Amino acid sequence: MNSQQMYEHLKSMVGNVVPDGEIRYKAEIAVEINRLKKERNAVILGHNYMEPILYNSISDFVGDSLELSRKAAATDKDVIVFCGVKFMAETAKILNPTKTVLLPADAGCSLAASITAADVRALKERFPGVPVVTYVNTYADVKAESDICCTSGNAVAVVESLGSQTVIFLPDEFLAGNVARETGKHIIFPTLTIPDAPSSDLDYQMIGWNGRCEVHEKYTLDDITRVREQYPDVLILAHPECSPEVTAACDFSGSTMAMIKYVENTHAPHYLLLTECSMGENIAAANPDKNMLRLCMVRCPHMNQITMENTLESLQQNKIVIEVPEEIRVRAVRAVERMIAIG
Ligand code: SF4
Repeated sequence: MNSQQMYEHLKSMVGNVVPDGEIRYKAEIAVEINRLKKERNAVILGHNYMEPILYNSISDFVGDSLELSRKAAATDKDVIVFCGVKFMAETAKILNPTKTVLLPADAGCSLAASITAADVRALKERFPGVPVVTYVNTYADVKAESDICCTSGNAVAVVESLGSQTVIFLPDEFLAGNVARETGKHIIFPTLTIPDAPSSDLDYQMIGWNGRCEVHEKYTLDDITRVREQYPDVLILAHPECSPEVTAACDFSGSTMAMIKYVENTHAPHYLLLTECSMGENIAAANPDKNMLRLCMVRCPHMNQITMENTLESLQQNKIVIEVPEEIRVRAVRAVERMIAIG
């Protein structure tokens, strides 16, 4: 595809959400990235939170963490460029130790930064024998301390697969609360430094942690009330990293892939997506016949670090190369593969 063909392709895909000048400028970069991708035998994995042009021009596969982990596990390419954040690129490396995994910018995550491997070890000491489920939005050394990983798409299935009375579920406080509600479990959030009140130690089935996604924590019940007053027939979708109060007040809660399918398969006068802004833009671009209300308050500052420009540089200059020490990788891969097996 030459620049003009790429421009026309992008115009048809994202013309309803991206200005013309930006499409023309980025079409040229996209052509160069695709040329280099072939030359280097690389695959580009684009998370659903990537900006619309990157999502629609250079990504060989798009999806959520689970979907992209599966693609990373199955690829036969020499180089994986992960257009997402660091914990995702680490997961690709965990699954592909002999391949080169590149992350175009040093993009972190508030949730992944909320817990350390030492925190997990301390919890295991405090609750011996209790299986540890870790959200895939964590770093490799935290995964290495876990029995199994999960994504927002399969968290309930993962917890139920363990057949355990009690589960440690880390680190997202809100995802844990949503899973607890769905599975009927009572959850506690123990602190490791201050002793808990004795009553909080009684009759619990889940042990959580106070990590949060800095994007999804911002949505409130007031946002929902205001929109429903103005648009009584709106269908509201929320990501499970939103608070349990918010997801309970919505019409649907699910992973990014589940939200995409839900919008595709329903016909409502208006939709409102309580999730990251670019994800909303990508769904709007793919469904031009549907009326998506914009309540885009939060672009993830970490995902936003990945651009067309630095993806090109990443392939040109082989950066940033992601490494996971083998001693950590061999422990982490068990938890990740168990997650992928559950689907
Ligand atoms: S959207 Fe939230 S969970 Fe995802 S990378 Fe950004 S801060 Fe982390």
